[in-house]
Amino acid sequence: MEKYDVVIIGAGLGGLLCGSILSREGYSVCVLDQNSRIGGSIQSFTRKGVIFNTGLNYTESLGEGEILNRYFKYFNILDKLKIKRMDTDSFERMSYAFDENEYPFAQGYNNFTESLSKYFPKEKNNLQKYVSDLQKVGDSFPLYNLDNNISEEASRPYLTIGAFDYLKSVTNDKKLQAILAGMNSLYGGEKHRTPLYVHALINNSFIKSSWRLPGGSSQLALAIAKTIEENGGKVLRKSKVVKLGGKNKQLEYAELNDGTRFFAKHIISNLHPAPTLNMVEPELAKKGHATRINELPNTIGMFTLYLRLKPETFPYLNYNHHYFNEYNSWTTKNAGKNWPGHYMLYTPPQTMDDKWAKGIIIITYMPYAEVAKWDNTFVEQRGNGYLEFKQKKAEQLIDLVSEKFPNIKSCIEEIYSSTPLTYRDYTGTPNGSAYGISKDFRDPLSTIISPKSRVKNLYFTGQNLNMHGILGVTINSIITCGSIIEPNYLLNKIRQY
Ligand SMILES: Cc1cc2nc3c(=O)[nH]c(=O)nc-3n(C[C@H](O)[C@H](O)[C@H](O)COP(=O)(O)OP(=O)(O)OC[C@H]3O[C@@H](n4cnc5c(N)ncnc54)[C@H](O)[C@@H]3O)c2cc1C
Repeated sequence: MEKYDVVIIGAGLGGLLCGSILSREGYSVCVLDQNSRIGGSIQSFTRKGVIFNTGLNYTESLGEGEILNRYFKYFNILDKLKIKRMDTDSFERMSYAFDENEYPFAQGYNNFTESLSKYFPKEKNNLQKYVSDLQKVGDSFPLYNLDNNISEEASRPYLTIGAFDYLKSVTNDKKLQAILAGMNSLYGGEKHRTPLYVHALINNSFIKSSWRLPGGSSQLALAIAKTIEENGGKVLRKSKVVKLGGKNKQLEYAELNDGTRFFAKHIISNLHPAPTLNMVEPELAKKGHATRINELPNTIGMFTLYLRLKPETFPYLNYNHHYFNEYNSWTTKNAGKNWPGHYMLYTPPQTMDDKWAKGIIIITYMPYAEVAKWDNTFVEQRGNGYLEFKQKKAEQLIDLVSEKFPNIKSCIEEIYSSTPLTYRDYTGTPNGSAYGISKDFRDPLSTIISPKSRVKNLYFTGQNLNMHGILGVTINSIITCGSIIEPNYLLNKIRQY
């Protein structure tokens, strides 16, 4: 019989990091993933020698002494990763139809303010206030600083302010409001729902410093899995969990689709809480809990294009290009109309010093309703109608990209694409939502998920707890493991890095 201290369902970033922490602390750990490749949204794949990322494009605050640098040192993975800093004067460029400027986001608070002030000289004071507010928000979350003098209470005010409303209060200039919200696709922001803290934590940590992973994002998953295996733990692929069972109101095992049972004292789910709770045997679950979680709205999904390029036709860009067809970054609600209307384009680095891009990745929002008619199909078996749909969408998106990059069509060798259905089937996230449960400033606590579920011995981790993204999920893994081992003991260890 397979028996462990901890079984973790899902080898996405959150599951792997929990496995790493707990195996290091002497727990016997087994991580189970449904796919043959681990990583979930940090997976990358190769087509004819070109590496593409399925999700993770760039990450943040990896500079010496910065927060993710410290966490990754604690995890003993920093020196195993190939990392490349993005352009310090423009890691992001915001561009708009009928506007020849590309508005840069620079790294470093002063640099950020100075760069945008060149385009908005009268807004310099407002921009200074903006970056100082971002810092204040970042400084109020204890695990974003590893500072034990900050109380949890310090962050409360930022949970109940809307990001869109906040930006309106920073400046009256509608164009600048749109530009400052330009990283919207990093969180699938909704005008009347997304809290300030989501916008601020992401912008703040990327402004501190922004980095890419040349050679693909999978290296992150592989490096963490290695630490688990070195500590004696297991990471099992092609192991799809379909049932969580037990007796006497205690969860005891995770069962695979072939009937194998993995018994454990603690079970951590890296999946979205809704499919997790749907797998729990009814007699173990608290009435109404699963229903409430199933009803929480999720962030929108993505349509992604992966373009394999002809050699030496398109330069490697050490920044992300965000394009909007109007001065409005809050496009999730209208994503089905006038599609695509907005996209983020980047060139995934293959090596540390690419001069030419071998591939381009273009991401835009896609509501699930667009693909709902293929709901009952699975990857590679969705039929010709779906392939035609994807081809039509690819052409529409490339047409929009051609407005900014007129030669792009002549650079393309081959086109691959994915829809929210692809993400649904590879990561298990409901309706292929990109970032999981959508946070809501009007009722923040209903959308922030506790790591301790209402089922005894079952814990949650991953992007659905407080924050998504690499830093958010890293911090959530500490929060989850802090529910199993003494949190201060764990934090004191991490603070040494
Ligand atoms: C298109 C896109 C772009 C992104 N870009 C960035 C970026 O540039 N920077 C950034 O910081 N963040 C980015 N993110 C967000 C970031 O990648 C995610 O927040 C993070 O990787 C989520 O990790 P996770 O551990 O919560 O779960 P996931 O990555 O969702 O992993 C869940 C895992 O569970 C497994 N699983 C599901 N069901 C089962 C089952 N029944 N049995 C066993 N295993 C199962 C899946 O196979 C998967 O491996 C992006 C996300 C997307 C979708």
